[in-house]
Amino acid sequence: MLDISFELNGRKVSPNNISDALEAAMLTSVKESITQSVGSIRCTEHGERPKIKAKGRNIDSLSLEVTGCCDAFIEQVKKKIA
Ligand SMILES: [Zn+2]
Repeated sequence: MLDISFELNGRKVSPNNISDALEAAMLTSVKESITQSVGSIRCTEHGERPKIKAKGRNIDSLSLEVTGCCDAFIEQVKKKIA
């Protein structure tokens, strides 16, 4: 399973623990679209999966942060989810 986390206004949230149903649905759809793009991707050199954090001041201004085993792989993931 791909590691995706969310941070809104400095607070960690997830589709399961956010109280607003609309926001939960939006987080779920963001998560699904990321999973579709890079859900099965692995670094060809290290066999690692990426970690992705979607953060922003609010749910309409999320930006994606990618971390991974090496820069080349991070770039590859970023291109896919851009
Ligand atoms: Zn790598």
